[in-house]
Amino acid sequence: MAKKGKLRVGWFSFACSEDSTIMMTEVLNECWQEWKKKIDIAYARVLQSQNEINDLDVAFIEGAITTNEDAKRAKEIRKNSKYVVAIGSCAVTGMPSAQRNLFDANLKKEIKPLLIKFKHREKVLALKDVIKVDDNVPGCPMNEKIFLEVLDKYLKKFGV
Ligand code: SF4
Repeated sequence: MAKKGKLRVGWFSFACSEDSTIMMTEVLNECWQEWKKKIDIAYARVLQSQNEINDLDVAFIEGAITTNEDAKRAKEIRKNSKYVVAIGSCAVTGMPSAQRNLFDANLKKEIKPLLIKFKHREKVLALKDVIKVDDNVPGCPMNEKIFLEVLDKYLKKFGV
């Protein structure tokens, strides 16, 4: 349930090193007093055990899509969010998580059993290859300044 006067957000991670998540928690340390008045964090497994995915104003998603299960989950997040922001290079472009897309034929053959074992897709995808993305925060890890600008944009858009 959306809390009145607050931006309801979710923070999600797919295949990646989760460095942007660490950056987000560092920013949260600095901005906690301000954010708690303006932001309702409905989903962020790194911060809390009780999470809700419904009726999000903005979903922030880091990481690349490597399995069909990831793609299904990304579509579920999209369905439950008014806006989606790709966080960090892996989500924005697929790289560097998508390095195996560039392997030569021999290497591809070598990793094939692992792809089958862990139900990974033939190719790693960027978030935009699977769902509509409204904004991008590039960088590896994410560019903190752009993240704060994008967050501010949505706070203004929702009149918070
Ligand atoms: S963009 Fe860089 S820091 Fe972020 S998850 Fe990918 S590899 Fe890690």
